[in-house]
Amino acid sequence: MLRIGDILSGLLQWAPASLAWDRDNIGLLLGSAEAEVRRVLVCLDVTPDVAKEAAERDVQCIVAHHPIIFHPLKSIRTDSTSGALIADLLRDEISVIAMHTNADATHGGLNSALGAALLLENMRALDPARGQRRQVLFRVSEGEDPTESCTHVLKADENRTCALRRLEDGQWEIDVETTVWDASGLKSTMQHALGSRLVAMHTIALEDKLQNHGIGAVGRLAEAMTAEDFTAFVKKQLDCPIIRTTPFLSEARISTVAVSSGAGSSYVEAAVRAGADALVTGDLTHHTFLDYQHDILLVDAGHYGTEKLFIRLCSEVLSTMPFQDTQKIDILTARTDTNPIRFV
Ligand SMILES: [Zn+2]
Repeated sequence: MLRIGDILSGLLQWAPASLAWDRDNIGLLLGSAEAEVRRVLVCLDVTPDVAKEAAERDVQCIVAHHPIIFHPLKSIRTDSTSGALIADLLRDEISVIAMHTNADATHGGLNSALGAALLLENMRALDPARGQRRQVLFRVSEGEDPTESCTHVLKADENRTCALRRLEDGQWEIDVETTVWDASGLKSTMQHALGSRLVAMHTIALEDKLQNHGIGAVGRLAEAMTAEDFTAFVKKQLDCPIIRTTPFLSEARISTVAVSSGAGSSYVEAAVRAGADALVTGDLTHHTFLDYQHDILLVDAGHYGTEKLFIRLCSEVLSTMPFQDTQKIDILTARTDTNPIRFV
């Protein structure tokens, strides 16, 4: 019997949690890791129509790119769209896993797929992942061994190592090395577990570089193109009916190309610094086009247009997981069109 937890750990091996943005919300967001799974549905967004499709197609687990719960959840009201959606999914015993910025940043993830769709060669990360690990030191007042009160925190896993030592003054020090993503939640967990016995806590950023992983990608086209040819090529390769671009500079040839899936405004500067002739991304604003029009060809293929590749990519990842040899499960891709933008 394959469990939701098995799907989750397989996905996290492909896109480690340590690569997720620290304010992201990824992993199993709804349901139980213990529940059995026979059928998975991959989508970009969990909308009420996607939930309905999942129930109709006898799916036990949805794997989505965007987290179904992102902002702090203050209520689950079934007279609101989001509350009713959560209630319906729980009623139908459908779990939801989100693979978001970790899937953007992993080598072989969404940005690699976007670059590959544009036939880029010699790709590297546009903004390599770095400084993703943290050492968090907790000082606990003297007295009995605090292990008992925080056993769940002291449990090491593939992302987290823990050590407990008694200091000369009788106080205790708990030394945790973990991901930036895990560290933010860990502090409130420890405050809750130790109460007034927690005397101090201190976080240290650890130096590490994961050159192969990171947000965005930059690579080269096999042959340079004019801006006009390049934009037509992007439309064809990404199957986008309409794209927005900065004005074409007549002499410009496009050879080095950067990509950043989803909202890429904050990576324009990195693309210019990387020497890219063009950046293909989504969600660019008027002022971004205005400010960079002489520096780089900006190509906005839309948030959906640059992320819809997730559906095929993630279903391929799931279809080739080792458990498929012994406990084969069905991997479905959502038929529901969740692009919330229409071009008229
Ligand atoms: Zn997105």
